[in-house]
Amino acid sequence: MELKDVIKELSEIDAPSGFEDAAAKRVSELLKPYVDEVRIDNMGNVLGFKGCGKKGAKRLLIEAHIDEVGFIVTGIDEGFLKLSEIGGPDIRTLPSAQLKILTEPPIFGVVACMPVHTIGNEEMNKAAKLKDLYADVGMSGECAAEKIPLGTPAVFHSVFKELGEGQVCGKALDDRAGMAVILRSLSLLENEELDVDLIIMGSVQEEIGLRGAVAGTFGACPDYALSIDVTYAKTHDYKKDDAMDSGGGPAIGVGPNMTRALSDRLIALAKEKEIRYQLEIMGGDTGTNAWVIQTSREGVATALVSLPLKYMHTQNETLRLSDAEALSRLVAAFVISLKGGEL
Ligand SMILES: [Zn+2]
Repeated sequence: MELKDVIKELSEIDAPSGFEDAAAKRVSELLKPYVDEVRIDNMGNVLGFKGCGKKGAKRLLIEAHIDEVGFIVTGIDEGFLKLSEIGGPDIRTLPSAQLKILTEPPIFGVVACMPVHTIGNEEMNKAAKLKDLYADVGMSGECAAEKIPLGTPAVFHSVFKELGEGQVCGKALDDRAGMAVILRSLSLLENEELDVDLIIMGSVQEEIGLRGAVAGTFGACPDYALSIDVTYAKTHDYKKDDAMDSGGGPAIGVGPNMTRALSDRLIALAKEKEIRYQLEIMGGDTGTNAWVIQTSREGVATALVSLPLKYMHTQNETLRLSDAEALSRLVAAFVISLKGGEL
């Protein structure tokens, strides 16, 4: 399958943090051809194992998170649903957005908003707060209460699209695009002889505090880890110095959360293979699973590489396919470079 198609398929799965079953199931299926064994742990993390067959081989964990930001129904007021956040969806983008309420079968709703004609200037300039927003499911209160139990999760409903020259937009690219990259790198490694045992992890509950990675990494017991996530990309009105260029290639993390020797190796490999890359310098907490992976058990030598992503945590997260392809090649080169299993 083409990288773009995998990104699309994973983007279209509805699986907010704590409700990742559908994502875990499909990722397990997609992993199967590349690994010896796939299992799902007690947290819900997907773990794939691919042994290199060499005695005493080091263990390399490659991970991306498979949850997404979303909502949970906390109340029903007539036919309008009261919601709370799962993770940190961008509430500014919510009024009039379509939501998919994850009942079986799903129910759709539109987030209610005032007619633009009726609101004053002051109101116009204010970002809405979730406590003031309701999802209109077009039902009477009775019908909604019967069909939608409190505690039902919901996600953004959006349509995955290709934009212009080689960009794609959709929901949950953070971080299912990272999982698509891992699958693509596994396909590049298919005929390679490896010197490390690979553990692939699709981790859950990242968006609510890196929780799946804590348990999953403990169970995986790796020597090295490569965490694949997304990072902020520049746009015409967001040009911060520390934001990355969309199309500038994968962002290799540098800082205390990343083991220097691994960051250096990724940089050297990118140069050697002529893979476009950029450096993302972070002085402390990277806000990614790398943060908890590095301190698992007795410590894990950890690297972080990220895809530049525009409009993070909205229904239309946007990235450039060339960055995802470049990152897949870099991950594959990194795995091959661990000859003898040593740094
Ligand atoms: Zn996120």
